[in-house]
Order: sequence, then structure tokens, then C-alpha cells
Amino acid sequence: MLTKDLQEFYKQMGIDNNLLELSGKIEGELKERFKQIDDIAQYNQLKVLKAMQDNHVSDSHFSGTTGYGYNDLGRDTLEQVYAHVFHTEDALVRPQIISGTHALTVALAGNLRPGDELLSPVGKPYDTLEGVIGIKETNGSLAEYGVSYKQVDLKADGSFDYDKIKEAIGPKTKLATIQRSKGYDSRPTFSVKQIGQLISFMKNIKPDLICMVDNCYGEFVEIIEPTDVGADLCVGSLIKNPGGGLAPVGGYIVGKKEYVENASYRLTAPGLGKEVGPTLGVNTSLYQGFFLAPQVVSAALKGAVYAAKLYEHLGFNVLPNGSEDRFDIIQAVTLDSPEAVIAFCEGIQAAAPVDSFVTPIPAPMPGYNCDVIMAAGAFVQGASIELSADAPIRPPYTVFFQGGLTWHHAKYGILMSLQKLLDRNLIKL
Ligand SMILES: *Cc1c(COP(=O)(O)O)cnc(C)c1O
Repeated sequence: MLTKDLQEFYKQMGIDNNLLELSGKIEGELKERFKQIDDIAQYNQLKVLKAMQDNHVSDSHFSGTTGYGYNDLGRDTLEQVYAHVFHTEDALVRPQIISGTHALTVALAGNLRPGDELLSPVGKPYDTLEGVIGIKETNGSLAEYGVSYKQVDLKADGSFDYDKIKEAIGPKTKLATIQRSKGYDSRPTFSVKQIGQLISFMKNIKPDLICMVDNCYGEFVEIIEPTDVGADLCVGSLIKNPGGGLAPVGGYIVGKKEYVENASYRLTAPGLGKEVGPTLGVNTSLYQGFFLAPQVVSAALKGAVYAAKLYEHLGFNVLPNGSEDRFDIIQAVTLDSPEAVIAFCEGIQAAAPVDSFVTPIPAPMPGYNCDVIMAAGAFVQGASIELSADAPIRPPYTVFFQGGLTWHHAKYGILMSLQKLLDRNLIKL
């Protein structure tokens, strides 16, 4: 039961009592689920802690370098910490990597050569990669450098099309890119175990195939990572899960030494690689964010499951649903009308610690054939580990949301989204 003080404060913060009652009922049903999420966070907390202890992380690692960034001990040690957590030979963790797309680009361009073929055995990759690969004609794409691309779509039920994948792997196939999270698609997200099965299958056909996983939104959702099941490279963004909300910028590439080095030659310059790259002043945030990441990811997961349960209860279609297993932090809710999508996003924005006073409005976006609405009141621009939501304004009017640095903030944001829907008579409790 909520204490009177808490109830009153929620009221003051704009949340009606009857909504809180429903919330209490839903939270009651989620006890067991939250315990599972906490257990995973506990395991991952120990994993990160041990990696930091084993690598003798020390105060001296928090000062950064400038200029070329030679002998940046903090940077090099952080990379060892990442390599320990992901159980890989090496890691590249840099503030010079601007985003997930950039990290993926560096990993791909560093390891593919003219005449090679790139394979996506899991259907269309994340939107921003279309230009990188050259699926959409773009200056500087891999296609322009003579790297061809093949894609095998998932079967209708979302499973891997093993027959077609076998057919697609040929003498030119150098690297397979596997996107773990559904991103903003409607397919299921893959578990690490499923990814392991796919990798084994492909390596059986071609042992020297480089298997790379786009790990965005997946880090610390399970107690194993794709590199534990055979991935040669694993790539992600520090303004998502592994930055723990504190990293102000950055991306990571972990994996086999040779492949990480190839990527580093692309990030800086051939021959220079990992030796250069100043960390300026961000080392502390990257360490501390990584330390907090398991906890932050658990908060985001609790928010996602809670929202799924609530919206499911109110009769909306949610993906994943309130009870199935989760392999990333993204939640999709189909709200059936543009008004409801807008109300939802206004609620998320109004609940933010930053820019809570602004009203998000749908607007045209490059790459979309309709207006898009985005809610984000984040400390770090575009950080989607912070509570954020976006939706293209088109049928079936699905909003995608993710993040939440604390469970209580995620909860408040979701309650605010519901309150806006209530206020506009778009739902009934
Ligand atoms: C976020 C994301 C990316 C990269 O996006 P950026 O906005 O460039 O960080 C790539 N793949 C997936 C699945 C993602 O979720």
C-alpha cells in the first residue's frame, strides 16, 4: 500500500488516485518478475565489479589525456575492463565513437575489403545502417567500396531461415551481422542463446566467417552476452545500456584481437589504431556509468514490463507482452490513434527531469514517410537509456519507448502517459 504522503505527492505531481490504485495492483502482480530482473542485475553487478577489481582500477585512471592521447592508462584499462566483462581478447571503448551507428560502421569498414560480401541473416538491419551498407544509395557506403550485401529475411514466425542462410553463405561471405534487438521493428528480439545457435550454424558452414552482433539495447539484460556464445565482435553505444546514463558520449567494439585492431585502424588511422585517442575528461563517467549499468538496465526493464502489463490490462497491443521473457529494453505499445500517441509522448516528456515544460509535437523527419513525434527530456542528448519515447504518426499508431535511469522515474513517466490518456478520455480505467 502507498503511504498517505506518497499518494499526496503523486497527486501534487499530477497523478490521480484511481490510477495509483491500478498501478498498485499491477505492481503486486509483478513481484516475481521484478525479483528475476533484480537477480540478473545482481549477477551483472558482480561481473562488472570483478572486472574492475581484477584490472586494478585506480584513481589514477580517471585523469584523461589530450592531443594524441598516447599512454592513456585510464582508457587502456577501461578497455581491459570491457574485455573482461564480455570475455573477449580485446576492446575498443572510445569517446571518439559518436553513436551505435558509428561503432557499427567502424567495425564493418575496418573488417571488410573490396570483393567481400556482408550477410545479414536476420532481415533488414537498423534504419541508419541502410546508408552505411549501401542498401540505400549513399556516398561513402560499403557498396561504393566494392563490398556487396546479402540479406536473408526471417521466416514469418520470426525464426531464422536456416535453409536460405546456408544458400546465402558463399566464398565471398566475410562477415555476418546479427542485430540482437528488434530496434523499431515488429520482429521479436533474439535471446543470446538463439544468437549462439545461429552463429554455430553459420560457423559449421564457414568456420572463418566473422560473426558480429549489433548489441544495442541488449547489454546486461541477460547474464551472458553474445561474445559468450561465439560472436567474434560485439558492438554498441555508450549512450544506451553500458554507459549507465553517465557516459556523455561513446561506443564500444569488443571481440577477437585481430578484428578489434582492424576496427581501430579505421577509427583512427591504419598503423595508429588503439595507440592514439585522448579521453579528455570523460574517463570517470565511462567507468562509473559502466559500474552503474546493470542497475540502470534493471530499472529500464522494470519500467518496460510494468508498462506492458498496464497497457495490456487496458486492452492495448503490446510487444513484448507483460509476461514473456525480454532480451532488450525496448517496449512497443500500439495505441490505435494519433491522439493517443501524442498524449502518450506528452506524458513521457512532462515526466522528464529536463525540459519537462516543453510539448513534443509531430514533425517530418528524414527517412520517414510521415511525421514523427519524440519525447526525450535527457541529461545526455539523444540518450535512449534515459526515459524516452518516439513514434511515427501512422497506423497502427505504435509508440516505442525505452529507458529510465531509475525504476521510480520510469514508473512515474508511464503513469504520466496514462494520465494524459485519461485526461483526454482516450482510455477508461
Ligand atoms: C540504437 C541502435 C543502433 C544505433 O543507433 P545510434 O542512434 O546511431 O546509436 C543500431 N542498432 C540498433 C538495434 C539500435 O537499437
